[in-house]
Amino acid sequence: MFNILSALKNNLQSPSPIKTKRIFTHNPSQAMCYSALDNSPLGTCIRASYMNNKEYPKSNPMGIYVQMTAEAGKLWESWLINQYKELGIYVDHSVRMYDESHNLSGELDILHMNPLTDKLEITECKQYNGSNFYAQNSIVGSAKQRPTPKESHLLQCFDYLLMCKNTGHDITHTNLLYLDRSCGSYYNNFQFRISLTTLTNKNVCPLIEYLDSEGKVQSYIDTRITEKAMYEKNEMLDTFLENELLPPRDFALKYTEDKIELLFKSKQISANKYNKWKENPAKNFIGDWNCVYCPFGPDLNGFSTCWSLNE
Ligand code: SF4
Repeated sequence: MFNILSALKNNLQSPSPIKTKRIFTHNPSQAMCYSALDNSPLGTCIRASYMNNKEYPKSNPMGIYVQMTAEAGKLWESWLINQYKELGIYVDHSVRMYDESHNLSGELDILHMNPLTDKLEITECKQYNGSNFYAQNSIVGSAKQRPTPKESHLLQCFDYLLMCKNTGHDITHTNLLYLDRSCGSYYNNFQFRISLTTLTNKNVCPLIEYLDSEGKVQSYIDTRITEKAMYEKNEMLDTFLENELLPPRDFALKYTEDKIELLFKSKQISANKYNKWKENPAKNFIGDWNCVYCPFGPDLNGFSTCWSLNE
């Protein structure tokens, strides 16, 4: 029997026949900053960004599952483009932008009109697994929790708006549209509308709007993310790259015992997770998820490019 699934896997995972060195620019899809409130890292890890740029070997490359979700994402995006065409609001898609002032370049998913304002807006199309309770609860929200976009996606949309501002384009809103690829429920699909707002302390932050269950517009400002903080972290990365200095880690693969005790006491770690760690700390270690999913994080044997380096 011709193994079709194995042939598809090989095809998806085969390397590109063309090897080319990309000219370095900061990319909104890899956006990052340190929180203006408590300095915690948001978005991409600076060390991962550095290692990616310097082409360090990937100990945990993208697996076939992630590749398949990326393929599904492309299909959903082209479906959305067709829907926008049918709605008569479509203008363009995959629009490349470059902001020379901050060496930022990216590709906007969809440019379209907002029929209520008659102005151009951006849509960034993302997919997630709405059948996963935690993912669904965090994006769509619940009686106890406000709907919240993923940090990296919010940073990306914020970056696009900064690029539009810096390049003189009159585009002031990005719609961050989440589509539930599991098609669990139509109401798992969710829209956030993001714009720039200036606070009294002059910080420029993202203002996030969404529709509540009664269809009323609700909004909040994420004061952790600021224009200044975004540029500062990009400049830090530039300095590390220029001086060929490996940046410190933004995240931890394994928390120290003290940190775990502290997080448990402040209810940031569940009793179940804590008890499992107590039973076998080596096997059930607790750390940042960012390291587990990082291309330079641990492989199945526990080897990690990042964590094998002592700096
Ligand atoms: S493994 Fe963790 S600390 Fe290291 S580069 Fe990746 S995210 Fe950063």
